[in-house]
Amino acid sequence: MKKQSTKNKKRTYHKPILVTSECLTGANVRYNGELLNYDWIKTFRKHIRILKVCPEMEIGLGVPRPPIWSISSPFGHRLIQPDTGKDITPKMSSFSKKFLSKHSTVDGFLLKSRSPSCGLDKVKLYAGADRAPVIGYTVGQFTRKVLETYPELPVSDERILSKRVNREQFLTTLFVTASFRSMTEDNSRQSLESFHDQYAMLIESLNVNRGKKMAKLLKSVSSSTLPKTVYLEYKSHLSQLLSRKHRLPARLLVLNKIIDSHSKVFSTAQKRELKFLLADYENGTSLFADISKTVSSIFNSHNLLTESISTFLSPFPLELLEK
Ligand code: SF4
Repeated sequence: MKKQSTKNKKRTYHKPILVTSECLTGANVRYNGELLNYDWIKTFRKHIRILKVCPEMEIGLGVPRPPIWSISSPFGHRLIQPDTGKDITPKMSSFSKKFLSKHSTVDGFLLKSRSPSCGLDKVKLYAGADRAPVIGYTVGQFTRKVLETYPELPVSDERILSKRVNREQFLTTLFVTASFRSMTEDNSRQSLESFHDQYAMLIESLNVNRGKKMAKLLKSVSSSTLPKTVYLEYKSHLSQLLSRKHRLPARLLVLNKIIDSHSKVFSTAQKRELKFLLADYENGTSLFADISKTVSSIFNSHNLLTESISTFLSPFPLELLEK
């Protein structure tokens, strides 16, 4: 494994590609002409490549337009425009398929909640198109295709991500996914080793045992070219790690290990400040990013910020959580 440098290099991030429902970016594409405004999505642009898409505009529906409904029918869920009687299911299905096959290099999806096209869940499902009652909830038609095509990628909506704690986990997953994609595209063992070295602490904080399996898998490769089976197995481990809710105690365990092994660099006042921050984090009143900023700046001032520690503390640019 490569030796980690202890020089404080300026951290660079692989820019993720995030497919985003266009209306969330403030564009005039909503059925009723409403303009949405999310400051935190605007800040994403600095570090994330936003790939905008409005499936309803793409299939030729204009603004304003009569609303569409998701309805239950003997032929499965259909997308219907009750005012015009149009069934737009085939058009939406064909657009979704084409769009997703054209944009196969993406790292995640940020979609509009509750929309019959883009909703992730809680999309009203009607019994029929004619003043029928709501009989349950479903997923938007475009999003259903997203989930089928990319089961391993992070997918969320603006309602979930309006909570900073959820955004912190989503951004971690998004940036790790982008980094893995970029760092391993040459298919060499060395690249995967570099990725593993850089993310070792973060992986350990997500699941120690799986992290060990991933390391063992890497050691089993003797050739410089990475066998496809190993790459896929490693990738599958990684996506399973990232798809789980990040466990707070495991993260703290790794953090405490880092702090303990460098305890001499912390002044008494800094130790007290950290104790408060850790307690707030455990109580759910602060984010991991709040601790990261403090620890990173102390390590930085002592020239101790290795790539692995820096990646664990800031897996994504922390300014993305500021709004
Ligand atoms: S929810 Fe989706 S289909 Fe509806 S306006 Fe937004 S981007 Fe377009």
